Amino acid sequence: MADGESCGKNESVDYHDWIKISPHCHTRVYSRCASITQWNLVRAVSQAGMDGLILTEHHNRWPDSKITEMRDHCIDSGYCRENFLIIPGQEIEARDPENKLNYGHVLVIGADKSLIEMNVNDLCGLAEKEGWALVAAHPGQVSGLSRFWEYPIHGFELLHRNQDNHYVRRLAEDHCSNLAKLGSDDIHHLGHEGHYCTLFPKGTKTEQDIIQAIKDRMTEPYKFKR
Ligand SMILES: [Zn+2]
Ligand SMILES: [Zn+2]
Repeated sequence: MADGESCGKNESVDYHDWIKISPHCHTRVYSRCASITQWNLVRAVSQAGMDGLILTEHHNRWPDSKITEMRDHCIDSGYCRENFLIIPGQEIEARDPENKLNYGHVLVIGADKSLIEMNVNDLCGLAEKEGWALVAAHPGQVSGLSRFWEYPIHGFELLHRNQDNHYVRRLAEDHCSNLAKLGSDDIHHLGHEGHYCTLFPKGTKTEQDIIQAIKDRMTEPYKFKR
């Protein structure tokens, strides 16, 4: 049974039809601002009742071979069960169109290599060409991409462990009815897990499934009972 509640527009969510993913996670391996190890990350997210996570290190995309090694070790060590999902993504800084010193963080899912910071219009163009999904990270923080709904991105973090979620909800009501809504803990340290996550359709297994769900707006932000 559910141990929390969906917080999106859909008020009658059947929890049996969804899985819980922590879609915004850092580790000390590739993010200097994070202290959590990859092992503790998997263990903590799994123990908090989630079915998987997306690795979104700053400008670093985990190599597939390292993800496979990590998953195998985590399963062997009992940190997670066998079908726990570990999906590669990354968080990048997008500059505004005038290239002023005004950055916004964006989650990118689908790129097969690490990306450098880039102009938001260039990022959106590349995403369109390459089939990536783009999610505006923590738009309720100063480091969020301002007026993100004016760009062809696919989703945004309606719920985030460390932003003014009421402010973002008001933004969403005014501008974002056609974007996928996500919830995240933006995990950097042990203990950050278990506040918010995102529901994805049951049967979601691969990076491509995650991209498709975000593009189809088939996600629901979720708040854990604490
Ligand atoms: Zn960020
Ligand atoms: Zn982050």
